[in-house]
Amino acid sequence: MRRAFSGHAASKGNALGHARVRLPHVFEIAEQQIPPEAVAPERARLHAALEQVRSELRAARERLHGALAHEIGEFLDLHALLLDDPDLLQGLDDLIREGRYSADYALRLQRDRLAAVFEGMEDDYFRSRVEDLDHVIGRLHAALHRGRADLTGVAGEILVTHAVAPSELAQLQAQGVLAVVTTGGSPLSHSAILARSLHLPLVVGTGDILQHINDGDVLVVDGGGGRVVLAPDADDLRAYRVRRRDDKRERKQLHRLRREPTRTLDGVDIRLYANAESRADIAEAHALGAAGLGLYRTEFLFLQRDALPDEDEQFVAYRDAVLGMTGRTVTIRTLDLGADKADRTGLSLTREPNPALGCRGVRLSQARDEVFVAQMRAILRASAYGPLRILVPMVSGREELEHVAATIRRARTALRAEGHDVADHIPLGAMIEVPSAALALTSFLDLVDFLSIGTNDLVQYLLAADRNNDALGDLYNPLHPAVLRLLRDVIRTGRRHAKPVSVCGEMAADPSAVPLLLALGLEEFSLHPGTLLEVRRAIRGYDLGALRRACGGLLRARDRAGIGRWLARHPLVPPEAS
Ligand code: PEP
Ligand code: MG
Repeated sequence: MRRAFSGHAASKGNALGHARVRLPHVFEIAEQQIPPEAVAPERARLHAALEQVRSELRAARERLHGALAHEIGEFLDLHALLLDDPDLLQGLDDLIREGRYSADYALRLQRDRLAAVFEGMEDDYFRSRVEDLDHVIGRLHAALHRGRADLTGVAGEILVTHAVAPSELAQLQAQGVLAVVTTGGSPLSHSAILARSLHLPLVVGTGDILQHINDGDVLVVDGGGGRVVLAPDADDLRAYRVRRRDDKRERKQLHRLRREPTRTLDGVDIRLYANAESRADIAEAHALGAAGLGLYRTEFLFLQRDALPDEDEQFVAYRDAVLGMTGRTVTIRTLDLGADKADRTGLSLTREPNPALGCRGVRLSQARDEVFVAQMRAILRASAYGPLRILVPMVSGREELEHVAATIRRARTALRAEGHDVADHIPLGAMIEVPSAALALTSFLDLVDFLSIGTNDLVQYLLAADRNNDALGDLYNPLHPAVLRLLRDVIRTGRRHAKPVSVCGEMAADPSAVPLLLALGLEEFSLHPGTLLEVRRAIRGYDLGALRRACGGLLRARDRAGIGRWLARHPLVPPEAS
């Protein structure tokens, strides 16, 4: 039956294909009732899943051999016993028949009931059996949604899941996945940023979608509109085709702007740099006429692998970025692992109580000197091939920059002694994404040549609102008076001290935020190539002088609604008119 779900648009693009469901380990299933006529099919669905899990466990048992066979076999036997527990089975049947609950919700209720019994036991051994219970219930839940037993890869399919890590997105795309839909997440998470860079449609925050979708179901995904339709009807399919056609037309129109200057209506040139994570991004940035790379996120070299990249491997990547931009400046950001960019090499700490406030960015580089030195040497060696700048993430004050500058000095001396060519002056920049750095800017400005405002983190730290937490709704939003005032102050202080300031957070990639950033005095944007032409088109539609004159009104806005009204008074001039 057709059903539409709305979420948040995280990466635009359209997809039509079969669903591939990946269920969460943690059971979060909301109450769901079924009509009387659905009771028999729901019980049949449950029993088919039970049968499937029984045979999976039998098959796993038969495959066991070697030293661990005995130990693992015991667990599998225990799981098979749990699965056939009369209390569990009877309870499930009753809940569907009498309670008219869906099999999913019945599973959850039974799980919670049995877990409470286990947890109430005196004996540690029984208390620890909750893990086994969860394992069995998880398997059953997965089997409930496994429509076709023959599914292997995800090629040509739409992944529907609880969450997706940045580290797995590139792999999913390489495997041919058409789009990704997640129940949680936010459009400003690192996964969303990467999906945009990969041009992989992504809809996040779709709520209870996992309860309604089975493997093999047909879905239409509208990444730009943040919508997913299960079992699309003729109208949905027509709308999908229209969107594809419109997208193509829009791409063609934007394509014409590749060689056009990023110039406002009153003739001021604005510099548009690109954010990049991969070779493909670099090639795209170059082709679209980016002024250079404003943010090359090096952590993506460290993800999806078990061993750290060594100096030589990093050198090749950085050198190729410089060569790829053929003389336009490349800004290499030092490692910003940690928080939701967790690697599997063991470098980032995984058990921090609050990773966003933990050992990430430059803090991790300071803690792991050998890793930082290797990265710095690789960057300095790449500086011999073209203009390059170094950008430091998560700066909170002067000390971190002094440490970085000393590391650069030492690495330069050592490299030259070894016979390497290193540029004489490599501009050093600080990311302004921790409020303390924004507020105490003048305390370290003498140490840096440029500033890059990371609004993604600045907003989360300033407003105390997790950038990955969908439940916070509009709280995580740059359109807040405090954010605008801080942006204005940083831009103004930078200008007074002749330090160029750019914004490299996702705010710079949002065409609707263009008038606001221009009004605040911004003259450099850095954004992923996917929206570079849209932002160029927007900039070309505004009169900079008029916006600057209206800045006072913007800063007087007292809430989001006031900022919204200001934006409504400064609509984009249609591109045709520009
Ligand atoms: C930011 O915080 O705005 C930023 C550009 O850095 P990242 O998104 O990689 O944390
Ligand atoms: Mg950041």
